[in-house]
Amino acid sequence: MARILIVEDEQRIASFVAKGLRAEGHQATIAADGPTGLDLALSGDVDLVVLDIGLPGLDGFDLLDQLRAQGSRVPVIVLTARDSVTDTVSALEGGADDYMAKPFRYAELSARIRLRLRQHPPSGDAEPGSLAAGGIHLDLRTRRATLGGREVELSAREFALAEVFLRNAGQVLSREQLLDHVWGLDFDPGSNVVDVYVGYLRRKLGSATITTVRGMGYRLER
Ligand code: CA
Repeated sequence: MARILIVEDEQRIASFVAKGLRAEGHQATIAADGPTGLDLALSGDVDLVVLDIGLPGLDGFDLLDQLRAQGSRVPVIVLTARDSVTDTVSALEGGADDYMAKPFRYAELSARIRLRLRQHPPSGDAEPGSLAAGGIHLDLRTRRATLGGREVELSAREFALAEVFLRNAGQVLSREQLLDHVWGLDFDPGSNVVDVYVGYLRRKLGSATITTVRGMGYRLER
């Protein structure tokens, strides 16, 4: 369940989207003008915003500018009838996460909302859906890794090792700890498998990401 704000002045579209979201178990709130939308989006009680561009009071581009200027990182999917490349680019540069041209099918919007919520899980989730540190981002649900936004291919074991490092970013982890977490206790503590895999990660994620702390272990730099 996510709390989704729909900022849309066309009542027909707003209620069609709200109805679909509620049927999927989300909480949907509608704001019919820009200033109300901005207030609600800034309230912090919103997990995702579906934002129309043509709005009374304050248009979607200005709303988005003000939202980002005030430090909000809430994911925003822009809806617009103006199906042009220029508008798409300016919406994305203005801090939108995704873009949907009207008319659209609810299923298309729903798929994009799901994707954005996976990347920014609602704050109520006990377990984070992703981890990030030092330019590395791990999506724990899809098991995908990116470095500076570019996808990096990691084996299952490399991913598991990266996950332990990211969960403990900035802390020194001993070889024994890493061995326990990633390989289990049935591995010979004298094995150099940890060192080998740290080498693999450094090759894929950059040699400076994991520091060797002499006599103690390894540390992922934030
Ligand atoms: Ca409109």
